[in-house]
Amino acid sequence: MTRDDQQLRKLLEVERAELMEAIGHYEVLARHKKPGLGNHMADDGTEAFDQAASLALHLNEQALLGQVEAAMVRMDRGEYGVCTRCGIEIDFARLKAIPHAELCIRCQQLVEDNPRGNGSKR
Ligand SMILES: [Zn+2]
Repeated sequence: MTRDDQQLRKLLEVERAELMEAIGHYEVLARHKKPGLGNHMADDGTEAFDQAASLALHLNEQALLGQVEAAMVRMDRGEYGVCTRCGIEIDFARLKAIPHAELCIRCQQLVEDNPRGNGSKR
């Protein structure tokens, strides 16, 4: 086994720090820009649009942060680097590229090809 968990943990920590900074930045921005309280009516349309766009980005970053933190928890438990869907080991090159990956390349492609077929059969 040549996988370097120390290196991967560092990648996860860097990724987490960057996401927290980005999210923190958004929250500062949101505090300064209170929608609906502005005096300039003409800007409201674009501001609402900006808000929606940055909110979508914000949610995306929060989801990513959750994945990064989940990966760190798995690392603590010694479950890191194993596909959560099929249980095989995820390629080290893939982990280096996407440290929070929880699916192997094969499962990732399956999920992307069929986003609704994510194990919730009834
Ligand atoms: Zn898999």
